[in-house]
Amino acid sequence: MIYFPETVDELARLSGEIRAGGTALHDRRRLGLSHGPLIDLRNIVALENLNLSKPSIGAMVTLEHLGEHPWIQKNYAALAEAIAHIATPQIRRVATVGGNLLQRNRCWYYREKDLECYKKGGDHCSARREGQVYDVCWDLGPCITPHPSTLGVVFLAYDAVVQTLKSPGLSIEQLFGDGRSASCDHYLPASDILCAVELPPPVPEVSGYRRVSDRTFAAWPLIEMVVRLQGEQYISHAHIAVGGIASVPVRLAWVEDFLTGQPLEQMVFSRAADLAADPIVATELVASSKYKLVLLKNCLQALLQTCAHSLQRSC
Ligand SMILES: Cc1cc2nc3c(=O)[nH]c(=O)nc-3n(C[C@H](O)[C@H](O)[C@H](O)COP(=O)(O)OP(=O)(O)OC[C@H]3O[C@@H](n4cnc5c(N)ncnc54)[C@H](O)[C@@H]3O)c2cc1C
Repeated sequence: MIYFPETVDELARLSGEIRAGGTALHDRRRLGLSHGPLIDLRNIVALENLNLSKPSIGAMVTLEHLGEHPWIQKNYAALAEAIAHIATPQIRRVATVGGNLLQRNRCWYYREKDLECYKKGGDHCSARREGQVYDVCWDLGPCITPHPSTLGVVFLAYDAVVQTLKSPGLSIEQLFGDGRSASCDHYLPASDILCAVELPPPVPEVSGYRRVSDRTFAAWPLIEMVVRLQGEQYISHAHIAVGGIASVPVRLAWVEDFLTGQPLEQMVFSRAADLAADPIVATELVASSKYKLVLLKNCLQALLQTCAHSLQRSC
């Protein structure tokens, strides 16, 4: 059974699994991990709204539409840049903002119907026994697969707020939690719907997105990062969010604190990169993926250099 509600009120009365673009959901249905009725959001025009005056992005706005929008490219450069790296043009044409944030994890043990996994209601993690290069390197909780959402990383860096049917404002940290949940990839209850994502108004800044991947095209990254810098000769605000290293997107708040007030100098960037990879932030490291700390350092240093270069040129 597939329902096609036309309004959010009609949607609120239905029960079933939500289908937005379907690009992630159909994968899970083919693997036998999703069953039962579907609620398809395609006819709910209110969820397709891209309101630039707030700015607010409807859950059904496609990645293609958002990433290619000139105003987004001008004011939220790292968001547009990140979207251009997600999957393929064909997927970006149908995949939506809501679906990207709420997609389930990519762990092979989760995706294999007959293997144990906390996120399928099991009581242990099969992935921990094997050790993969794709695992997280910061061991925050029971699950060691990276969070799959690139937009989760970007919206975390932009301090975005998520509106749902039942909540007017959830931060990205509240949506994903601190990585210690054994049972879910996000905290949106099955009975709730993600309606829109609100961004803070644009500010004068430079920003950049970078990912390291074992394939240049159509693969989830080993790690990915967004850096936003404000200031002139000195950094007045820094925002840094990383994906691929933990079971949730992570904000490097201690590195942001270090960078604030510092001059745009190479020595500062090297120190920031060392701090980012300092393992004291995690209780444990996952042995098979410790190498990601090197990627983390290099990624941050490269992004800081690029952003600083653009800041100096714009002064
Ligand atoms: C080869 C390949 C490479 C990829 N690389 C990346 C990558 O690098 N980074 C990345 O982020 N993604 C990547 N993806 C995943 C892709 O971005 C997702 O498949 C897509 O964003 C999901 O969007 P969708 O609209 O199709 O979601 P759907 O498949 O429709 O839904 C996904 C999940 O979200 C739920 N959902 C959707 N909308 C709502 C809503 N409004 N309210 C409540 N629940 C909702 C659904 O119930 C479902 O559980 C890749 C995919 C492929 C095939």
